[in-house]
Amino acid sequence: MLGSSKSFWLLKKMPKWKLSTEFSFDAAHFIRDYDGPCGRMHGHTYRVRVEASATKLLPTEYCPHPAMVADYRTLRWAKKDVLQGGLDHCVLNDVMPEGYETTAEMIAQYIYEKTAERLPKEVKLKIAVSETPNSWAEYEADD
Ligand SMILES: [Zn+2]
Repeated sequence: MLGSSKSFWLLKKMPKWKLSTEFSFDAAHFIRDYDGPCGRMHGHTYRVRVEASATKLLPTEYCPHPAMVADYRTLRWAKKDVLQGGLDHCVLNDVMPEGYETTAEMIAQYIYEKTAERLPKEVKLKIAVSETPNSWAEYEADD
């Protein structure tokens, strides 16, 4: 009987939860050394899509019970005004650290890294950033 309960355990499916949230922020930027209009200072209403997934539910800084993948407030930090620690109404070239260019690809990477710092290791992230209605850049990283 022990053997059969063990094989039941092995066949049990791994649960997974996934949260998605979208928000926008307004920011100015220019792409350094870019040969074209994107090399001049201009602005976008950036759209950001954050996906967070986990195979178990966790407590968060706002809720002590293991009942969430993450709190939406944590996932949406970048929507806040730059003076409150977000990215809204900032100049991305001033806010993003050295080593990052302000392409959609690297903005997605930057938001990924800053969001990951706020979450337990068990939470997997995928970040997508859009500068225009027709295009998205996605970033995720394996351990
Ligand atoms: Zn641009």
